[in-house]
Amino acid sequence: MNITINLVDKEKRPAPTEENLGFGRIFTPHMFVMTWETEKGWHDARIQPFAPFEISPASSVLHYAQEIFEGMKAYRQAKDRIVMFRPEMNAARMNRSAARMDMPEIPVDDQLEILTRLIDIDRDYVPRTRGNTLYIRPAMMGDSHSLGAHSASRFIYFVILSPSGSYYPRGLAPTRLKVERRYVRAVKGGVGFAKTGGNYAASFKGTTEAIAEGFDQVVWLDGKENRYVQEAGAMNIMFVADGKLYTGALGDGILPGITRDSVLMLAKEMGLETIERPIDIQEVKRWADEGRLTEAFGTGTAAAISPIGELNFAGEPIIPGDGEIGPIARHMYETLLGIQYGELEDRYGWIYPVPDKTI
Ligand SMILES: *Cc1c(COP(=O)(O)O)cnc(C)c1O
Repeated sequence: MNITINLVDKEKRPAPTEENLGFGRIFTPHMFVMTWETEKGWHDARIQPFAPFEISPASSVLHYAQEIFEGMKAYRQAKDRIVMFRPEMNAARMNRSAARMDMPEIPVDDQLEILTRLIDIDRDYVPRTRGNTLYIRPAMMGDSHSLGAHSASRFIYFVILSPSGSYYPRGLAPTRLKVERRYVRAVKGGVGFAKTGGNYAASFKGTTEAIAEGFDQVVWLDGKENRYVQEAGAMNIMFVADGKLYTGALGDGILPGITRDSVLMLAKEMGLETIERPIDIQEVKRWADEGRLTEAFGTGTAAAISPIGELNFAGEPIIPGDGEIGPIARHMYETLLGIQYGELEDRYGWIYPVPDKTI
């Protein structure tokens, strides 16, 4: 790829202190930007100082929410080796989201080159403390300067990087979730499988209400029958019952998580039977009532694994196991982090190094 590079002066790039980084609050000095137009395709690729965009108030993303994004991380292993985790999966998913939202795709190899070159330039910002990471946020938006309600004729793809703190500064902790019965996140034929901003906008109201009621997050049920468990907030959700690992089958309503896929592979490796099929919330309740539900947890890049201590369904608590972190959740958490930090063997080729070519 032909990428124009315009760097911030070295002395204007102090590395951040690693305490209280939080999540997605501070950004590295550089960003990647490129533009797509009907006639030209993708062009004007550049790495430039992190800066606000100037877009028209008529820009289509502001009115019609034609937007997609990705979320992944870079990790600093021993000897300052910087790596990503299965980024080709994120790049492929970005293109599936683009296809659904009528947006232009970007070849996977180009996305990987963009990510590695940008991260390489800002490699000093990949945190050094284990558990802290460089959060990577690629996104694409429609930027036609017209209020016509149709797919944009101009798009901007950009990547920003955020040194972020551990999701668990005080250790892995179980969450209390409210099973949402009124609002839904995804419907058949809809965009639930795409990583598009509108899915998040539509989820905030239910989440805000759940938090006001003292819960940490919501569990989404399917939009048709309001029975089948789809996701826990913006994480995939898994259950351990009768010693088997259950998770919803992929389809329109479930985001194909890379952590979900990795956990299913690790489960098979440890001889755990994995079952992907629609999971009725009444079935989960019955498992718990009969003492067969030993664990429930969310999976996603931000937290890796998020153990669930309670699912509250219509005011009744469903408690997996004893409400504490179970052995499978803990094993998955430690295995994922172990592979990401290079302490465990990368048996599946999940680790993708960012070569050091710093200019
Ligand atoms: C990103 C996301 C996930 C998790 O995907 P990972 O690839 O594991 O990070 C799950 N659900 C939703 C709705 C998401 O947006």
